[in-house]
Amino acid sequence: MSEIKLIREDGRRLDGRLPEELRPIKIEVGVLKRADGSCYFELGRNKVVAAVYGPRELHPRHAQDARRAAVRFRYNMAPFSVEERRRPGPDRRSVEISKVSREALEPVIIAEYYPRAAIDIFVEILESDAGTRTAGINAASVALADAGIPMKGLVSAVAVGKVDGQIVLDLMSEEDQYGEMDMPVAMVTRTNTITLLQMDGRVTMEEFDRALDLAIAGCRRIYELQRKALIEKYSESRAEEGGV
Ligand code: ADP
Repeated sequence: MSEIKLIREDGRRLDGRLPEELRPIKIEVGVLKRADGSCYFELGRNKVVAAVYGPRELHPRHAQDARRAAVRFRYNMAPFSVEERRRPGPDRRSVEISKVSREALEPVIIAEYYPRAAIDIFVEILESDAGTRTAGINAASVALADAGIPMKGLVSAVAVGKVDGQIVLDLMSEEDQYGEMDMPVAMVTRTNTITLLQMDGRVTMEEFDRALDLAIAGCRRIYELQRKALIEKYSESRAEEGGV
């Protein structure tokens, strides 16, 4: 158990949430004009932007794949996104997060339609409060759809964990820091496929099952919000064009 009390007497967490509650979410589609697709995603105090460029010709040419497009993902934390200013540039953590985020999204992208091309995904963390990799994956998934990239489904992601002996959804910073377990999960809700599962900490098998169920329920709720944001954007632009 942690030194700091993370669950109050009334069963609520430090920010007043119940164990199975998500932080407030805000999604805006198409926030960047120059990108082919983009999305702004807020998850509590996390603020992230995803930009998608492509499919476009991949350079250098010797790196092209004649059978499919290459999917590239860069996760970056702005120096001002954390409490103490962070040294700019890539580090071990951002290289790892970029890799697992790409792997979380690749299974839904129909890359075979675009041989020799590149699909570039950039995620910038403007403000962070734990859960940035999951916020980045959610934003990137919407940005890919906004770019018109053919996909088998949207990917939704959320972290679950164990704090003060309880399994909770969507860890904030204090819970991530002082909790007993942190497990980010990404899934394709339409096909029930998990595309990312990482775990830091120790739990029993029963706790793991409960945590996974909670993560799946959280992903389903996020999926509905992603879908709604995309539908709203596209019904708006159709109305502007004078269409249906
Ligand atoms: P995630 O953001 O996906 O939960 P981590 O568990 O690695 O990934 O990080 C948890 C939180 O710790 C981040 O959201 C951020 O608020 C903070 N953090 C991560 N890296 C740094 C850093 N280099 N400096 C300060 N804070 C950081």
